[in-house]
Amino acid sequence: MKNDIQKQTAPVMTEISEIFSSIQGEGPYLGKKQIFVRFGRCNMHCHYCDELDKMQKGMYQSVPVADVVRQIDVFEREKGQHHSVSLTGGEPLMYLGALKAILPELKARNLTTYLETNGTFPRALDQVVGSIDIVAMDLKPPTSTGDRAYWDEHREFLAIARRTKVFVKTVITPAVSRADIERSIQLVAEVDPRIPFIFQPESLMTGMSVPAMQLIEKEFFTLASASLKDVRVIPQMHKIWGVR
Ligand code: SF4
Repeated sequence: MKNDIQKQTAPVMTEISEIFSSIQGEGPYLGKKQIFVRFGRCNMHCHYCDELDKMQKGMYQSVPVADVVRQIDVFEREKGQHHSVSLTGGEPLMYLGALKAILPELKARNLTTYLETNGTFPRALDQVVGSIDIVAMDLKPPTSTGDRAYWDEHREFLAIARRTKVFVKTVITPAVSRADIERSIQLVAEVDPRIPFIFQPESLMTGMSVPAMQLIEKEFFTLASASLKDVRVIPQMHKIWGVR
């Protein structure tokens, strides 16, 4: 009996590396003001990841979900209205219990919810997609990430994400293969060719990777445009702007 009461009253916890207000630096919502909730861990190890070092060092804290919502309220009050709350990481869908607790709170406040995800947890998405306004799905060609392939997970994920507003973004490194890009394009085209498809050339601390950009310009953009209706190149801007 005592244990039951403790279970009922135990706060929902999550792992957070940071919460901050800034400007979205990538994708089609570039330049929009957002509150970023950065979850701690990720299931992938993309070699270009800005957060990998912090994640491997365990630089995140266990915090009650109520504190996360309180911090969002503070930013909304002190920094003015934001376009949306970006649930990012790490991989937010690894924290399904926390998302199930946070999302209704954000909806109750009429805040727009924006999920930045690596698109590898379709079953988790299925449980929360009804409370997400925008899904920013990274599609991960293995020759770009250096990690394993996630084609099946991506296909299932995108079919679910399509129930709300979704765009696909893929980071292009000079190592990416044409076969992987063809497969990425085909995957999106089979789900819905109208889904916006964003090429993001790898961004280094010194600026954009010119070889990656050349690959997109000379080869991949034309390839994608043959099957998809909305193809764009949008580099990461926040490093150039010098903001988080
Ligand atoms: S999926 Fe995203 S957060 Fe995870 S390792 Fe790759 S770039 Fe980093």
